[in-house]
Amino acid sequence: MINILILPGDGIGPEITKQVIKIIKSCIFLGLKCKLIYNYIGGISIEKFNIPISDKLLKICNYVDTIFLGCVGGYKWKNCYLKPEEGLLDIRKKLNFFLNIRPIKCPYKNIDFLILRELIGGIYFSKPKGLSKQIINSIPTWYSYNTEVYNEQEIIRIARIGFNLAKTRKQKLCSIDKSNVLDTSKLWRKVVTYIHKFYNEVKLSHLYIDFATIELIKKYNNFDIIITSNLFGDILSDHCSLLTGSLGTLPSISINNKSLSLFEPAHGSAPDIAGLNIANPIGSLLSIVLMLEFVFNCIKLSNKLYYSIYKVLSYGFCTIDMKNIIKNSKIISTNEFGDLVNHFLLLND
Ligand code: NAD
Repeated sequence: MINILILPGDGIGPEITKQVIKIIKSCIFLGLKCKLIYNYIGGISIEKFNIPISDKLLKICNYVDTIFLGCVGGYKWKNCYLKPEEGLLDIRKKLNFFLNIRPIKCPYKNIDFLILRELIGGIYFSKPKGLSKQIINSIPTWYSYNTEVYNEQEIIRIARIGFNLAKTRKQKLCSIDKSNVLDTSKLWRKVVTYIHKFYNEVKLSHLYIDFATIELIKKYNNFDIIITSNLFGDILSDHCSLLTGSLGTLPSISINNKSLSLFEPAHGSAPDIAGLNIANPIGSLLSIVLMLEFVFNCIKLSNKLYYSIYKVLSYGFCTIDMKNIIKNSKIISTNEFGDLVNHFLLLND
């Protein structure tokens, strides 16, 4: 029996997670052996326990087999001392989810590449960081600073996973950095180039992040495996939603060194549309496609869910964010989208 921890989070999190639960329950009906456990993270956890992630939740994470997380954050906590996003950074850091894989895939456009983002290092976590006051030009002035630190070991483990994955796919890997300016990127490029010596069958290329943003949109077919730092991976994967049609369509999987996995859509809590039942649940549902494959090893069910999602789109049904992407689109709600996917999943064919 596999235990799945469900953390809906904030904003559109509960709406998209509702669709995920619907689908998992149908998978159980179809024979999947799992148990759902529910808890809180982010703003909702601040409201309930005065902390974005509780110790109890971290303990629960240690005995479950896998986690689905909606998203965290929102206007409500803008001026709050405690930030919902700290819950997200903490679950990643404390459970050592060092790698985040974001598939950029779209069957009807023939797009299929993976962004491997380092997840617990770099500028999001390194110290020193802070906010301070200083006299500048005789004026008391606020200033703030963050630091980016990467060590060789952190880069090696991402590079090795990247090269190993490349061997199972199209044998090419592109490493994205800013080594014309940043010292951390210089080390990143040097280490990746060194590790490549052990993977001669894989073709290695390097791109600077600024040019990569253009190449990824114009020549996406040239890419297969991309490895990059925490900050660049965060921005690049959102940017690549231009290819798939909406930020709401991208799934992700994070892994740690104890084979625990965390599945989440790539988008945030979208407070501007929260509660309206219009959020796109595709990124979340595709995260379950990945979970079925990598945690449950249920390839057949995973494929069936994948095709059920795209079948809904092929009939022209989509949430409002994809209205200009899908031909002859018929706009439906988050709930209706989940119901239609569920319908196709349960159809005998
Ligand atoms: P966002 O991803 O929440 O939203 C950006 C834009 O995309 C918005 O217009 C939103 O409506 C739209 N969008 C996002 N997901 C969508 C979906 N599923 N369907 C339809 N439209 C969707 O990013 P943001 O506005 O920069 O951040 C909002 C909050 O989310 C902030 O508090 C931020 O810190 C947080 N955040 C959380 C995560 C996470 O939980 N993993 C990631 C990024 C941002």
